[in-house]
Amino acid sequence: KEKKPAEGRKHQNMQNDTKVSQGQWGRAWEVDWFSLASILFLLMFAPLIVYYFIMSCAQYQCSLTDPLLDLLTGNKHLSDIWNSTSTLTYRAAVIYSLWVTFQVVLYLFIPDFCHKFLPGYVGGVQEGAITPAGVVNKYEINGLQAWIITHVLWFANASCCHLFSPTIIFANWIPLLWCANILGYAVSTFAMIKGYFFPTNAKDCKFTGNFFYDYMMGIEFNPRIGKWFDFKLFFNGRPGIVAWTLINLSFAAKQQELYGQVTNSMILVNVLQGIYVLDFFWNEAWYLKTIDICHDHFGWYLGWGDCVWLPYLYTLQGLYLVYHPVQLCTAHAIGVLMLGLLGYYIFRMTNHQKDLFRRTSGNCRIWGKKPQYIECSYTSVDGTKYHSKLMTSGFWGWARHFNYTGDLMGSLAYCLACGFEHLLPYFYIIYMTILLTHRCLRDEHRCGSKYGKDWKRYTAAVPYRLLPGVF
Ligand code: NDP
Repeated sequence: KEKKPAEGRKHQNMQNDTKVSQGQWGRAWEVDWFSLASILFLLMFAPLIVYYFIMSCAQYQCSLTDPLLDLLTGNKHLSDIWNSTSTLTYRAAVIYSLWVTFQVVLYLFIPDFCHKFLPGYVGGVQEGAITPAGVVNKYEINGLQAWIITHVLWFANASCCHLFSPTIIFANWIPLLWCANILGYAVSTFAMIKGYFFPTNAKDCKFTGNFFYDYMMGIEFNPRIGKWFDFKLFFNGRPGIVAWTLINLSFAAKQQELYGQVTNSMILVNVLQGIYVLDFFWNEAWYLKTIDICHDHFGWYLGWGDCVWLPYLYTLQGLYLVYHPVQLCTAHAIGVLMLGLLGYYIFRMTNHQKDLFRRTSGNCRIWGKKPQYIECSYTSVDGTKYHSKLMTSGFWGWARHFNYTGDLMGSLAYCLACGFEHLLPYFYIIYMTILLTHRCLRDEHRCGSKYGKDWKRYTAAVPYRLLPGVF
């Protein structure tokens, strides 16, 4: 029996999946030592890394080496650094609680209206990809609306209401870090308990038996509370990504307050990252089909990562520029802008080409021509054979993950906006290179086991992963 992927709910017969078919999705069933060691390392050190970066800005003008030198030379003790760190405050707890509650309200109680008047925007109730257990979840896509409402209120406050200062985020940055950590750990722990005792869909749970692996990589695939509160969609986009642009605006406001002007580097960081954030929300429905939502389970990696890692480390450039108000020469600024826009263009066009190709089953035009592709097939555990296509035209003919390459070019542009004095703002490009290279290998491993010899034909036709001729 053979079926085409577009045929309705083709995977209904996968309801009684076993490990074999589920192996195509998400995280592993069994933990190898390397994965376990990496996970233990991250669980122990990721919160320390975030603390170290934020502390070195607050106490050492964003120097990453000075705190270490102080400690090594005995100039300071760990306790000195810790005692100089702001603690959790009542004010920060109130701000954070109000912020998260506000985002929950926007997410749950205000159905999308943007898709009614924005041409080309896909919002409202949308279906996600099929889960390993054969479930197709429905999502209320209203992130763009939440982002717009939040930012309109922010600008209304900054320009006329003056209920709070736009520097409020910067002023409470470390106390808010403790709040974000509390939420990150609380939500990951809750997700773990929920996975054991009251999962949304028991067939979409994975248990390895290793506590740390399960905690980190998650048990449930799509944990939900009620019909609509989806943990992955909420925590992935809000509060973290909606906050991203607000955090940058708060840093810009602080620069204005401190130096009487906002530097061109700060404007570049705000604009380029703003485009990336807006792109995320404009394409929120499309993100339902990306690896985060389609393959990853919800654990500490996503829960804590979305609450702490993303808002604190993705915004390091803006934070750095508060302490080092870099004013770029025109050529440097234009170079950064061009690199950022080119990176964004490649990122978006590559993703768009695949989306168009898959939506139309190859009946489309890529760069003015009918796309070329490799026919491939895969078999589910019940023996049903499915067909799919891997495109070898457009950016997908240049490299197997040219969308990641575009993303990396954009990431490099944010860092270059900060000049060359310190390493700290370059953390983002280093991290993104590791993240996307690892993701590339992870995805290829999955595709290799899914498509078998067809994947080999594809990798022979498109031999490079990220950079044609290099890698
Ligand atoms: P992709 O959008 O690249 O999707 C990979 C999947 O696409 C594969 O598993 C395969 O799925 C299918 N595919 C692979 N090759 C082809 C081909 N030639 N033709 C058609 N389909 C193909 O990966 P992600 O979901 O990771 O990334 C989405 C975007 O999000 C990227 O642009 C990435 O840069 C960005 N991103 C940003 C992050 C950040 O923190 N800023 C983090 C992660 C991602 P199938 O099984 O259907 O064949």
